[in-house]
Amino acid sequence: MGSLEAGHDLKNGSTPMLNPLDPEEFRRQGHLIIDFLADYYKNIEKYPVRSQVEPGYLSSRLPDSAPLDPEPIETVMQDVENHIIPGITHWQSPNYFAYFPATACIAGFLGEMVCTGFNVVGFNWVSSPAATELESIVMDWFGKMLQLPTSFLFSGGGGGVLQGTSCEAILPNPFRGAEGSPNRWNQPRKFSAIPTTKDNAFGLIPDSLESAILSDLAVGLIPLFLCATVGTTSSTAVDPVGSLSNVARRYGVWVHIDAAQAGSACICPEFRHFIDGIEGADSFSLNAHKWFFTNLDCCCLWVKDPNALIKALSTNPEFLRNKATESNQVVDYKDWQIGLSRRFRAMKLWLVLRSYGVVNLQNLIRSHVDMAKHFEGLVGMDKRFEVVVPRNFAMVCFRVSPSAVGDRFESCDEKIVNEFNRNLLASVNGTGRVYMTHGVLEGVYMIRFAVGTTLTGYRHVGMAWDVVQDCAHAMLAKS
Ligand SMILES: *Cc1c(COP(=O)(O)O)cnc(C)c1O
Repeated sequence: MGSLEAGHDLKNGSTPMLNPLDPEEFRRQGHLIIDFLADYYKNIEKYPVRSQVEPGYLSSRLPDSAPLDPEPIETVMQDVENHIIPGITHWQSPNYFAYFPATACIAGFLGEMVCTGFNVVGFNWVSSPAATELESIVMDWFGKMLQLPTSFLFSGGGGGVLQGTSCEAILPNPFRGAEGSPNRWNQPRKFSAIPTTKDNAFGLIPDSLESAILSDLAVGLIPLFLCATVGTTSSTAVDPVGSLSNVARRYGVWVHIDAAQAGSACICPEFRHFIDGIEGADSFSLNAHKWFFTNLDCCCLWVKDPNALIKALSTNPEFLRNKATESNQVVDYKDWQIGLSRRFRAMKLWLVLRSYGVVNLQNLIRSHVDMAKHFEGLVGMDKRFEVVVPRNFAMVCFRVSPSAVGDRFESCDEKIVNEFNRNLLASVNGTGRVYMTHGVLEGVYMIRFAVGTTLTGYRHVGMAWDVVQDCAHAMLAKS
């Protein structure tokens, strides 16, 4: 505080007023950042995929407080290179196979730039008509690509909205479920995860749903909401959308289909069957930032009955009143989400759709599935390994088999097998050459190999398998 007063005589105006949005400075610095990122993508394979820093690494490298005086962008970017990049896990690396990759692309990036450049806050139609109307148009385009029933499109009485993440998109739906019965929020509340098993490929069985509903009803609970998943995070398991919806509908339960990652694959006719029966659901969402080449964040949510959302979420303070809203001829997206302010995300989805076209997007997705099949084949050829659950999309869940671990350690106790695979994954990731993560199903620890990032090719998949084999070989070798 003292230093601010001592060093900076604000009254006599000795420091010239800065223009933080000077167009020529924007041009110069913008080009510099694009060059920086182009070089980053070009050289991305030289970094360890998963950051190797220790917690707290950054505080010893950066000053304790913000600078009083401006620093040139070149200096800041030098620090990005020296201090930030070591703490980056390179999600865009072609050797990244962890979680679900976040596919990015030129159009997604540039669309994000245009969105950020306009920096409009499109909460209602009048606050930026293009932001709202483009969003409605691209959501109908995308819905048609997925062959969603017309009841999910604006052209059929439903509609789509862009949100940041799946969690934001899914959260409002239970509120909708509570509409219509003012007493419902006064009831005791309960959330349950209904168990699934390997025998049903970890898909939710309609009979299990019905028993859960019946036992809730028996104790006076009112079931409101079912979230079924197409492509679960741990293993890409698929719930039977149609038959679950049939059960849920009989009890007035709102059905949401969470297809955060795998939903994008349904633009390919050969994968569309995974959402067969979707006409029985109330809402459907996927993350375009996961497998649809649209830079974070971009979650697409379609609903059959937008009025249900609007009734649960709308707000109409005086300062937002306007003629367009009162005409009832416009969409005010603030009423389709929890928050008020919203970004012009449609811009990036529009750029992605137009820059590549449906055919290229389908082929990119197919290429990821083909690479996963290739990896699955490699695992299948090595007797020491096994694929743990059937592959549905572009992820292979595998492990070193109990018999191989048993040969080495004279025990194939599940705990020892799990521990072995946990150590194997740590050893694989410790090389810095690839990054994979794990899942546990029915007590079985498995390594998830999720293909792919936009830059991933067969070469990278083959290399990843070499790393896994080398690490396993070292661990299985009898000393
Ligand atoms: C990734 C994922 C989510 C969470 O997505 P967010 O956008 O981070 O909220 C939810 N469900 C499934 C099946 C996912 O794969």
